[in-house]
Amino acid sequence: MGSYPLTFHEFKQGLAEGELPGLKCEECGEGIVPPSAVCTACGSTRLSRTSFAGKGSIRTFTVIRVGPEGFTPPYIVALVELDEGPWVLGNLVGVDAASAGMDLMNKKVIVGSKVLPLKPSESGVEGVVLTFELT
Ligand SMILES: [Zn+2]
Repeated sequence: MGSYPLTFHEFKQGLAEGELPGLKCEECGEGIVPPSAVCTACGSTRLSRTSFAGKGSIRTFTVIRVGPEGFTPPYIVALVELDEGPWVLGNLVGVDAASAGMDLMNKKVIVGSKVLPLKPSESGVEGVVLTFELT
């Protein structure tokens, strides 16, 4: 066993530098983001670090009206299919949640990130969420 190819800390660091780091399964070729200990498709632990282009398309979304601290509801959570294949969950920004409609489906987005100011008592570390912006 080698060392873990991409820790969550390294994932966050990469996001902060404008990268979208992830993992690629050596067994089946599946792209994995955010990092996981095992391949989400086949369960293999033979994973190597990769970097995604950070572009994708909205496949589905939901409007959140009651959110956790650090968010200002209403806001939009979207499931985006990256051009490389993996599906990632994040916040759609720059779109008015009140007028979000089906025309958002399949819209192209670019992926960014936002650091969440979680209370130290909750986790001891800052959380991070992916953000999507319409292109
Ligand atoms: Zn796999």
